[in-house]
Amino acid sequence: MDFSRLKEDVVAANKELPARNLVKYSWGNVGAIDRERGVIIIKPVGMPYEELTTDNISVVDVAGDVIEGSPTPSVDLPIHATLFEGFPDIGAVVHTHSTYATMWAQAGMSIPCYGTTHADYFYDSIPVTRNLAPDEVAGDFERNTGAVILESFKGKDYLATPGILVASHGVFTWGEDVWEAVHNAVVLEEIAKMALGTLMLNPSARELDRCVMDKHYQRKHGPGAYFVNDDFGHGIVDVKNGGGLR
Ligand SMILES: [Zn+2]
Repeated sequence: MDFSRLKEDVVAANKELPARNLVKYSWGNVGAIDRERGVIIIKPVGMPYEELTTDNISVVDVAGDVIEGSPTPSVDLPIHATLFEGFPDIGAVVHTHSTYATMWAQAGMSIPCYGTTHADYFYDSIPVTRNLAPDEVAGDFERNTGAVILESFKGKDYLATPGILVASHGVFTWGEDVWEAVHNAVVLEEIAKMALGTLMLNPSARELDRCVMDKHYQRKHGPGAYFVNDDFGHGIVDVKNGGGLR
């Protein structure tokens, strides 16, 4: 089977993480799923981003067996797989320990929606998971991390809020494709930074009025959406072809 296009995208999207200053060393990964063919393509564990190629990126089947590329996929593969199972409308997942977002995750705090930058991309606050119980940590830790993310979205729209903080750990975002998922990771980091600064300036800052939050989200993502800004709308930017809309 030929996964060359998706492999190219996943390699390029992984390299976006250091390029956008979201990761140090190899602290993060991008994974994507081809649902028709039943494969996940993901960064190999510990591999420097500059060494990543379409030949060594890991291609894994639904059983978790590597069928192409590096035999050692990211240890976070079970988290990606759990999200792909639980969120049927996503095509890609990004994980980082980006600094500001991870500060909120380590504080065990969700990020309130303080302004329209946030509301353009994430409807409502960015949630934070509960801590895993000792038996969940001792057991299948990565699968249980994925499960606790799904648990946080029970009854919520995972497409309207395409990201979460994992308590004491870091960030996961997702999207229709790798570009949207990376874009959401970049925006989430900026939102985390802005929210921290907002609280430092004014510890009793108010959350954005619900009517403004609704307006900003709906004008970009709702039926009859009419707002496209200079990120080319939904963040699906084809960097290989000059950065235009895909
Ligand atoms: Zn991590």
